[in-house]
Amino acid sequence: MQDARFINPLHLALTSDLSLIPDMPRSQVKYVGRFAPTPSGPLHFGSIIAALGSYLDARHHQGRWLLRIDDLDTPRLQAGADDKILAALETLGLHWDGMVVYQSRRHEAYQHALANLQSRDLLFPCYCPRKLVKGRPYPGTCRQREVEKDRQHALRIKVAPGTVVLHDLIQTEYRQNLLDEVGDFIIRRADGLYAYHLAVVLDDAWQGITHIVRGADLMASTPRQIYLQQQLAVELPVYAHLPLAVSQTGVKISKQSMAKDVLLLGAPNTVLFNCLNFLGQQPEADLSQAPVRELIQWGIEHWQLSRVPKLGSIIAPEKYRTT
Ligand SMILES: [Zn+2]
Repeated sequence: MQDARFINPLHLALTSDLSLIPDMPRSQVKYVGRFAPTPSGPLHFGSIIAALGSYLDARHHQGRWLLRIDDLDTPRLQAGADDKILAALETLGLHWDGMVVYQSRRHEAYQHALANLQSRDLLFPCYCPRKLVKGRPYPGTCRQREVEKDRQHALRIKVAPGTVVLHDLIQTEYRQNLLDEVGDFIIRRADGLYAYHLAVVLDDAWQGITHIVRGADLMASTPRQIYLQQQLAVELPVYAHLPLAVSQTGVKISKQSMAKDVLLLGAPNTVLFNCLNFLGQQPEADLSQAPVRELIQWGIEHWQLSRVPKLGSIIAPEKYRTT
């Protein structure tokens, strides 16, 4: 049952169940993980995979697990989706530590970092139409331009030559020549919204995140985040990218592909059992009927990152797919 944990006007929410979390002062915690969903719809199978994988890895290592609502991209948000996500996590036994952080309340921090980068001449205004530069490396067109009064522009960061190497805990080493493959990338969009990469890097650092366990669809953008971490001189977290849940045709199970609310597709314990299987953890068959709490406890005790398939994507069980 849900209770009055969600004090929405203040955007505060406290975890309800601390019994699975070892009593440990924060200073001694060597592992801080997180789950950071965008409240653009209900949790689908793909997002539960990311939530469960990051949760079990954190708890298996006696770590903290924080929840952040990535609600910066306002055009994509769905009213009330944040509360539904919190409730779904509780139903699935994924209890987080401390208060929920909302990115929409962190603008001051983003502005501060932006001013820092600006003062070091690392940013420049870009006036290129979005459709001209979308989907390919930015050729540096506006690098020498100055800000023109009253004209809307994005802000890009100058990328230095060189290869960024990601030593992932699950996938094989990932290398990206950021300048050639991505180019100078956007830090603040033309519509005034802070870019995901800037916000995520600042929030992870501010929250003291040590381990980022998330879907492999974010691998290609990790070098941008590593580059920003270096520029902003923040601690680099460790990354583990889980295989992405996809349809038979390889399409990501996502809100965009009209994925359904996972809790409408079966009992919570069945969802968890299927997720454990998807993540290669091989739960015994007799656990398929076990209650949520028991499955989570089993997952924490038996979690092995080395069992997670080293694949970019895996076809999701049929009932969770839309195609
Ligand atoms: Zn430009």
